[in-house]
Amino acid sequence: MKVLKFGGTSVGSPERMKKLLDIVNPAQRQIVVLSAVSGTTNSLVEIANAYLTDNKAKASTLIAALKTKYETFIQELFDKDEYLQMGKEVITYHFDLLAALANDLFTPVEEKIILAQGELLSTTLYHIYLKQIGVPSVLLPALDFMKVDGDHEPMVDYLTEHITPLLQQYPDNKLFITQGYICRNSFGEIDNLRRGGSDYTASLIGAGIRAEEVQIWTDIDGMHNNDPRIVKGTKPIAQLSFDEAAELAYFGAKILHPQSVFPAQRYKIPVRLLNTMEPSAAGTLISSTTDKGAIKSIAAKDNITAIKIQSSRMLLAYGFLRRVFEVFERYKTPIDMITTSEVAVSVTIDDTTYLGEITRELNDFGSVEVDVNQSIVCIVGDFGTETHGYAARVIESVKHLPLRMISYGGSAYNISILVKTGDKVEALRSLHSRLF
Ligand code: ASP
Ligand code: MG
Repeated sequence: MKVLKFGGTSVGSPERMKKLLDIVNPAQRQIVVLSAVSGTTNSLVEIANAYLTDNKAKASTLIAALKTKYETFIQELFDKDEYLQMGKEVITYHFDLLAALANDLFTPVEEKIILAQGELLSTTLYHIYLKQIGVPSVLLPALDFMKVDGDHEPMVDYLTEHITPLLQQYPDNKLFITQGYICRNSFGEIDNLRRGGSDYTASLIGAGIRAEEVQIWTDIDGMHNNDPRIVKGTKPIAQLSFDEAAELAYFGAKILHPQSVFPAQRYKIPVRLLNTMEPSAAGTLISSTTDKGAIKSIAAKDNITAIKIQSSRMLLAYGFLRRVFEVFERYKTPIDMITTSEVAVSVTIDDTTYLGEITRELNDFGSVEVDVNQSIVCIVGDFGTETHGYAARVIESVKHLPLRMISYGGSAYNISILVKTGDKVEALRSLHSRLF
């Protein structure tokens, strides 16, 4: 069984929604995961914020505006009166629910309920549309099988246990539709997998049912081997291993929700990134196999801050790094790159919320220097211990630029350098022309 996920723009208009059947073959047994209609989740975030700040009038205006959008949407989606009527009832139900929250105490629990309405709307409307055109389908409620634990970690075994009987209930049915993004938390409340989480849903379902393949349909032709906005002549990467994809996930967040690689990797479910606008293009296949010894992709991330801690106490000491890392841990700040010398260590972070507190505490260990406006440029490929020359080629390509940090050997799939953001474009272009 395959899992197919369509993002917000792929269901962004009635026309696009109808066109899903150019890709979805209703004769094949499959699960189709849908995002909310594009723009909807952003509007729901605004509505929730209005409620959170107790601005009920603003919430009400925003709800009315979004409702009007959906009223127009269904006019084009349904041409038979009976189904238009059903569509109207669905809209009334969801928008009454949004409006009724004005009467309650508003907490993060209600906020999550609001955010869930987008996927509930898109899947229900699509399900009714399929009825109108006589294509049998089953709507699977994601809230019945998608669950996160107390650490907000999705529970794949729970998913398997709860989705299997649902699927078995419909042995003759081919097409199943479900909501991306939404889930229940450990209290059983409605929650979500964070913004962009529909990809993660698809990958988790793929893992949970041991799918033959997960397809993520977007409007780009796969993951490119460099940033197409900056470098000319980038190409979609045909094949990536799970390890390589995991390295790129952090950088390619816009194409694929970074966490979606992990369930697929763990259960070895191939993931294909495909383009709705060009369905026959090959896209990118992420699987266990890859071309050996090849440079696959170059990616960059801005707004990086480098912090250097220099201390003679580090020399021949143990436990020093632990104490440094604990400072970051206390402020829930992830570290990305690390480089060390005998008497100094440099790390990078991209969340600077607690930079002041962190540097103040680090000052107890030695002298601290902070460099802002840095970019990580990362080169991903298969650089196993038996290969040679890759690091040299990378460094040679950027020899005309000052490098703040170099990281090699952390994994066999990544070489990262840290440059000033002002040098990033040149670094990407120069690497591209010399490595590909
Ligand atoms: N609708 C959600 C969002 O906009 C989830 C998704 O589209 O993946 O973040
Ligand atoms: Mg997305």
